Amino acid sequence: MICGVFGHPNGFWQRGFRLGDLGINAVFVSSGDIDQQTIDRTRAEGGQIFAEFATLNGDYGDYVANHPEAHPIDESGQPAARATWFMGACPTDPGFRAFRMDELRTFLSEHEVDGVWMDYLHWHAQFEDPYPMLCKTCFNESCLDSFQFSTDIEVRGDTTAEKAEWILLQAAQAWEDWRVSVVVDWAREFHAIVKEIRPAALVGNYQAAWQDEDFWGARRRCLGLDFDALAPYVDVFSPMPYHGRSGMPLEYVRDYAEYFSTRHDVYTEPDKYPRLWPIVQAFDAPRVEPAELATVLEYGLAGKSSGVIAFTIDSVIADLGKIEAVKNVYCGRS
Ligand SMILES: [Zn+2]
Repeated sequence: MICGVFGHPNGFWQRGFRLGDLGINAVFVSSGDIDQQTIDRTRAEGGQIFAEFATLNGDYGDYVANHPEAHPIDESGQPAARATWFMGACPTDPGFRAFRMDELRTFLSEHEVDGVWMDYLHWHAQFEDPYPMLCKTCFNESCLDSFQFSTDIEVRGDTTAEKAEWILLQAAQAWEDWRVSVVVDWAREFHAIVKEIRPAALVGNYQAAWQDEDFWGARRRCLGLDFDALAPYVDVFSPMPYHGRSGMPLEYVRDYAEYFSTRHDVYTEPDKYPRLWPIVQAFDAPRVEPAELATVLEYGLAGKSSGVIAFTIDSVIADLGKIEAVKNVYCGRS
């Protein structure tokens, strides 16, 4: 059973804690914050260390700011608006893809982690806000070329806006399927690189905790996320049912873990994949009471889940009640 926390454990260690004091046996840390000392100390305390890798987040490394050709283009032919705290990137821009995959190779060569979690693996959108931002991208040259090449569909229209309108009216289903295939191909290459450089490392995915039908199918139709298609390349699915942030009841976490366990083939037996390890809200936006945190951690282990991750470790250590809540759920399980 994975009893995890998200975030660098530095603040936790500075307060004199060891991971085992709270029953924590896995830490999930942004790839840019991982160094050898962190890996060594986590292992010395009996924990596994997994990296979060900002995959299609164009802000990471300021890539899109420095390479405007990778800025997603919307159906009016203009650069898409930013999401609240990040800017997506055009997934078919060849320079961007090569850059990110190189970063992944370099990171893996230098850090012996137990796995890497893809983050922001979706078309530009924002699903982590109380009011999700859904938009239709991308209609830049590389995407229009790729869509036509992959589908053999000849797009009509002169301007980008005309072409986008034609696609959305005449070939929406083919366009949605193609968008899924683009995301899957990122996962395929990501998985191949991880297994080549660190064969024992797991590939995880942080993802919207939306069912197939939610928001008129927006998870697949807008984000481009099809978990059946991604399954061959993902060892661990980590849905993000942030109940408070989404304005949902606590039961949302349990219901989603049960839904995912029924809807998809996930396993709990040793060495069988994919697995299900949801990440749940510990941070106070809005306030999460310690008792709520204990409940969502328990609910995150519903269905065939074999692990749960508290987001974030800093929000736990800032609150004595939350420290106790994590300890009560994790100790004895890990
Ligand atoms: Zn594009």
